[in-house]
Amino acid sequence: MSFNTQVTRVPRIGTGWDSHEFKPGIPLRIGGVLLPHDSGLAGHSDGDVLLHALTDALLGAVAAGDIGSYFPPSDPKWKGADSAVFVGEALQQIAAKGYTVGNVDCTLVLAAPKIGPHAKAIQENVAKLLGVKAEQIGIKAKTPEGTGTDNAAIAQVVVLLVEIVWP
Ligand code: MG
Repeated sequence: MSFNTQVTRVPRIGTGWDSHEFKPGIPLRIGGVLLPHDSGLAGHSDGDVLLHALTDALLGAVAAGDIGSYFPPSDPKWKGADSAVFVGEALQQIAAKGYTVGNVDCTLVLAAPKIGPHAKAIQENVAKLLGVKAEQIGIKAKTPEGTGTDNAAIAQVVVLLVEIVWP
C-alpha cells in the first residue's frame, strides 16, 4: 500500500441546508440564476436558498462558522445583497485553510417551478462562482411530496474539499 505523501491535508466534507418562503411579485433567484416564475424567495438578502446552503456547506467543511456569523440578517448592509458575495467569503475562508472545492452535490426541494429546464444554467453558474468545472457540480431537484412545504424552497448541499496543490 502506498500513499501520496505530497498531500498533507485530509479531504473535508461539509453540509448546508436552507429554506425560504415564496412571496408573490419578487424575482426568483436560485444558484444565482434568475428563473421565470410568479413569485420569488423572501429573505433579507436576495433569498437565494441554494447559494445560502452552499455557503454553509463550504464554511462547515472547515469548521468556520455559518453564514449568519459573517452576514448577520440584523445588519442592514446585507439587505437585498447578491448571495454570490456570501459564497465568495466562504471561498476565501476555505482557501485560507489550504482547501479548494473537489465537488458539490445539491438537492433542491420545491413544488414549482420545475428546475429541470434550468438545471444546466444553475450548474454552470455555481461552477463559475466556485471557479471549478460544471462537471464538479451536481444539481438535483425533487417535489416536496407529503411534507406540506409547497410554499417554500429548500436546498441541501454537500461539498467535498480537497487540498490546494500548487503546481
Ligand atoms: Mg437563507
